Amino acid sequence: MIFAHARRTAGPAGAGEGTRAGEGARVDGLVDGFGRRFHYLRLSVTEVCNFRCTYCLPDGFRKTAPLTFLTPLECERVVRAFAGLGVSKVRVTGGEPSVRRDLPEIIARAASVPGIRKVCITTNGWNLGRQVAGWRDAGLTNLNVSIDSLDREGFRRITGHDRLPAVVAGLDRALELGLPVVKVNGVLLRDTAEAGFEAFADFVRARPVAVRFIELMRTGDNADFFADQHVPGARLTDWLTARGWTPRARAFDDGPAIEMVHPDHAGRIGLIAPYAPGFCDGCNRLRITARGQLRLCLFGELGVGLKDLLEADEPEALRARILRALAGKPAGHRLHEADSGDTRQLAQFGG
Ligand code: SAM
Ligand code: SF4
Repeated sequence: MIFAHARRTAGPAGAGEGTRAGEGARVDGLVDGFGRRFHYLRLSVTEVCNFRCTYCLPDGFRKTAPLTFLTPLECERVVRAFAGLGVSKVRVTGGEPSVRRDLPEIIARAASVPGIRKVCITTNGWNLGRQVAGWRDAGLTNLNVSIDSLDREGFRRITGHDRLPAVVAGLDRALELGLPVVKVNGVLLRDTAEAGFEAFADFVRARPVAVRFIELMRTGDNADFFADQHVPGARLTDWLTARGWTPRARAFDDGPAIEMVHPDHAGRIGLIAPYAPGFCDGCNRLRITARGQLRLCLFGELGVGLKDLLEADEPEALRARILRALAGKPAGHRLHEADSGDTRQLAQFGG
């Protein structure tokens, strides 16, 4: 039978993870029909982006509908609903989240929700040096910066912007500020593979950051690019293994990355391999789009609208709708069958 529920156990108010004062019960987590638990919410705050990454928005962002995205208060309401169901980690994403002027307020509101332990962001880092202190002060705990190439010209070719030095300076500023977790995301591309592995291994020799390569995913819009540029993740792990890197133990709320360490390097290098067997078995995240839809799978079809309940501030109805929707979460994506659902590019839903 397909079911979805928030598992509750009796316990003193304020006693457990996800417990809010006065609730009198401990929420152990959202669980779907396949026994997967969800404690991680990806919250997209905009579809707009100022970069033109070759695999995502090669022609740049095009407005096709009014830019009516969740307000900071609606973001807080949705985070509150999920935190009440056991979610403890929120990642703010987009489009490019930092194009929103009210981003510090969104971070602060998410961080203020009882039960939320980590407020993370994924950003292209275009203005990181100027913005990151404000995000830290607002309550940001984890920063992921997307850098696909450490070669200045390669970075410009991929993103459409000659901003590599500024992005790296912003990352170093974040390290100086002592943000608890700083990571780099890079998409694994045929054109940049081995030279990129070498450059990133050098990059993390002294920097205590985790670099995670994401295997290129096929979306509705990038079929030709995918056919040309997709390489299996084993190309990275084989390269690392041959040079003495070894796998590292995982924390309970880690994403799907397998990270590797080396005694001569302060940082780590990892792989997110969505095409690997069993990838979806460990799915631990749900997604909210910038328009207030709950997406059960990155490569699914449609979403469940929550915007009306967020506008009206109806927490009980919101919670009930989320639980009902979770019953429909599929076992896995169908990327292997070249089926990306209705996902044209990842800027649409935040990756
Ligand atoms: N604009 C922000 C950024 O680039 O970090 C946040 C949104 S972006 C959609 C989130 C992540 O998805 C980025 O790390 C990006 O590199 C990755 N991404 C986008 N399209 C992808 C694809 N087709 N395959 C793999 N990763 C992709
Ligand atoms: Fe923009 Fe991020 Fe997509 Fe690049 S990957 S185009 S930065 S949304």
